[in-house]
Amino acid sequence: MLSTMQDAPLSVAQVLRHGSTVHGRAEVVTWTGAEARRRSYAEVGRRCAQLAHALRGLGVTGDERVATFMWNNAEHLEAYLAVPSMGAVLHTLNIRLFPEQLIHVANHGEDHVVIVDPTLIPLLTPQLAQLTTVKHVIVTGDSVDGVEVPDGMQVHAYEALIAGQPTEFDWPEVDERSAAAMCYTSGTTGDPKGVAYSHRSIYLHSMQVCMTDGPALKQGDRALAVVPQFHAMAWGLPYAAFMIGASLLMPDRFLQPEPLAAFIAAEQPTMSAAVPTIWQGLHLYLEQHPQDISCMHDVLIGGSAVPPSMMHTFEEDHGVQVLHAWGMTETSPLGSVARPPAGTEGDERWHYRYTQGRFPASVQARLVDDAGEVVPNDGDSIGELEVRGPWIAGSYYGVDAPDKFQDGWLRTGDVGSITPDGYLTLTDRTKDIIKSGGEWISSVDLENAVMGHPDVIEAAVIGVPDQKWDERPLVAVVIRDGADATVDTLREFLSDKVAKWQLPENWTVINEVPKTSVGKFDKKRLRSQYSDGELE
Ligand code: ADP
Repeated sequence: MLSTMQDAPLSVAQVLRHGSTVHGRAEVVTWTGAEARRRSYAEVGRRCAQLAHALRGLGVTGDERVATFMWNNAEHLEAYLAVPSMGAVLHTLNIRLFPEQLIHVANHGEDHVVIVDPTLIPLLTPQLAQLTTVKHVIVTGDSVDGVEVPDGMQVHAYEALIAGQPTEFDWPEVDERSAAAMCYTSGTTGDPKGVAYSHRSIYLHSMQVCMTDGPALKQGDRALAVVPQFHAMAWGLPYAAFMIGASLLMPDRFLQPEPLAAFIAAEQPTMSAAVPTIWQGLHLYLEQHPQDISCMHDVLIGGSAVPPSMMHTFEEDHGVQVLHAWGMTETSPLGSVARPPAGTEGDERWHYRYTQGRFPASVQARLVDDAGEVVPNDGDSIGELEVRGPWIAGSYYGVDAPDKFQDGWLRTGDVGSITPDGYLTLTDRTKDIIKSGGEWISSVDLENAVMGHPDVIEAAVIGVPDQKWDERPLVAVVIRDGADATVDTLREFLSDKVAKWQLPENWTVINEVPKTSVGKFDKKRLRSQYSDGELE
C-alpha cells in the first residue's frame, strides 16, 4: 500500500525561502579584521535572487557548476544558497590545494563560473589558463582592477553584476535527489575525489545539525563558522543556520588566534566549530592574552581526534564545553556526536565525551574485520567503520572506487570499536595504525597521552620501519618554548599511561607538526620527511 502523504521534495530553495522570510532578522556577520559587515537574512534572500539572475545572465543553466574560491563570508553564504536554489551545482574549491590538484578538481567538476575573493586572486589566476571549462570569473566586491584572465574568459565584479537585478527569483522545483553542491575530499589519502550532495541530503543533514542529541544548533544561536566553507560544507552550519534562524559569524581570512579572539570579543558567538589545531592555537594565545570566551556554550570539534586534555582545558580554563564529533566529506559531514547519555555524571560522563560519539537514527554504522566479517558492538572488538544513510555518499562523482563502497556501505578507512549503547571510539585510520610485532598500536592513543603533558603543544605519532618489530611508533613532538620537558621526561610521563611494549623509543622534537589543507596533522608529509631524515 502506498502512503497517503504528499511527496514534497526537500530542497535548498526551501531553506532559502524559509530563512530569508521567517528568520529575516537573523544576520550573517563577516569580520574585516577590525570591524564587522552585517547583512540580515532578509537581505541575503534578496541578494541571492539577484545573484541567480546574474548567473542566468552569464548563461548558467541546468546543473552547470558554479565554483567558489572563497573564505567564509556573506557572499560565500549567498553562493551556497543561490546556486543550488536555481538548480545549478555549487562547487566549493579548497583554496589550499596544490595547483595541480586545484586544476584537476575544477576541470573534473567542469566548473563554468568561479566566484573568487579579491585576496585570493593571486592564488587562482596562475591556474586560470588551465581551467578548461571556466568561462566567467566573478570577483567579490566592487572592483576587478588589475585582475587578468586568459582569452575566452570574462571577469566581473560581484556587486556590479548583481546591482539592478530583480530581488525575487522564481526558484525552480528540482528533483530532491539531484545534485545541489559538490566538494572534493582534501586528498590526504590520494587524488581528491568529488562528493555530490543532493538537495535531499543537505536538507536532512541540516535538520540533524539542529537535533538536540546532535550539535543542537537553535534559533537565536550565533554560530562562529571557523571550519572553512570549502571543508566539507563548513560541517553543514550555513544551511542549518539559515533553516533554524541562527546567525552566522564568518571570520573571512582572519583565522589566526589574535583576530579570532577579537571577533569573539566583538560578536559573542554562542557556539562554534573547527578542527582541534584551531582551538589549540586559540588556547595558547589566550594564555598570554586572557579573555572571557564563555559566551560559547559548545564548540564542536572534529576532523581529527580531540585529545581529552583539550576538552578539560576548554571546560576548566574557559568555561566552554567541547562537543566531540566524527565525520567525513563523504558523510556531509556529520556522523557521530559525543553527547553522553542522560543521567550520567562525573568520570562516566567524561568517558562518553572522549569518544567520537553516537550516530543518529538516520545513519547506520557497523565494524568489519580484515576477513570481511561484521564484529559485535561490545566496546572491545575492533574493525573498520562502515556507514550508510541518506546523507552518506554512495559513490564518487565520475570515478569508480569499489574499495570504498561495498553493498551499499561506505568504507570509511577508520578503525575502532563501538559500545553496546552505540558510542564509537576510533583508534586510527587504517593507514596510520602501527603494526608492531603482530600487535596494533593506536597512534591516536599515544598522541592523546603525549598531548596530556602540560609542556606539550602538539604531538603526532607515525609508524616507522623496525627490523625486529616491523614497525615502531615515532613521536614528533612540539614542546612549549622555555619549558623543561625533554624526551626523557616525556617518556617517563607516558610510562604509567600506556602499556610498556607500546612505549615509543623513537622521538623527534620539532617546531610545528605539518598540517594538511584543512588544518589536520599531515602524517603523510611527516612520514616522507622522516624517511628523508629531515626531522632527525
Ligand atoms: P581528509 O580525509 O582529507 O582528512 P575529511 O575531512 O573528509 O578529509 O576527513 C575525514 C576523516 O577525518 C575521517 O575519515 C577520520 O579519519 C578523520 N576524523 C574526523 N573526525 C574525527 C574524530 N573526531 N576523531 C578522529 N578522526 C576523525
